[in-house]
Amino acid sequence: MILLNVPFSEKDEAKKLGAKWEPTLKKWCANHRNNYWKFEKWLNGELVFKENIFIVEGKQTCWKCDKTTNVYAIGVLSEDIIELENVSQRETVQQKTGFDLQIWPVESDMPDFLRVQLVERFGCKKKYSYTEQRSYFANVCSNCDSLQGSFFLHSSPDSPFGWMNESQLTLYKYPLNYDYASNVSLDRSISINYSYLKRSVIKTSSSPIL
Ligand SMILES: [Zn+2]
Repeated sequence: MILLNVPFSEKDEAKKLGAKWEPTLKKWCANHRNNYWKFEKWLNGELVFKENIFIVEGKQTCWKCDKTTNVYAIGVLSEDIIELENVSQRETVQQKTGFDLQIWPVESDMPDFLRVQLVERFGCKKKYSYTEQRSYFANVCSNCDSLQGSFFLHSSPDSPFGWMNESQLTLYKYPLNYDYASNVSLDRSISINYSYLKRSVIKTSSSPIL
């Protein structure tokens, strides 16, 4: 099931397409994953995550204090991603990208409960970046509180979440109560076959409320 942002004036249109009213949540929803694409105008993004989302933990040497700190990202298994723009799904996300896990920066669009977890359990916070001249939700060093900019965590293949880095990743697994549409996009720039899961340890977390 996925929740839809249907304005009152468009409720008849949504109903005609097969949307159902969810009385407890007071929202329209779509129940069949094969049909989600029909409801795209009421979803915030073109990729839908199903089953689980992971908080991915890696390690990084802090640029400021030179000590090792944990850093975090958001991960979803390629097989748990539905592309709304790719109705036939002839090519899977894994085939398209070469990766069995997709990883995005913590500032990306994600369910609210994950952001809460990142703040309360893993120490992420909103920080100002002098390099980028903006504030954003980010990783900080656990020793000296310096911003660990997402550019340095994600942009290069040997960065902590890159495919050329061989350090171990810990995946904290969070089951989804409903599917979630996100406005992130897939990185198709590198077409190699690479398994993130091979260098990962999976830890299960208690079931959250979306
Ligand atoms: Zn530091």
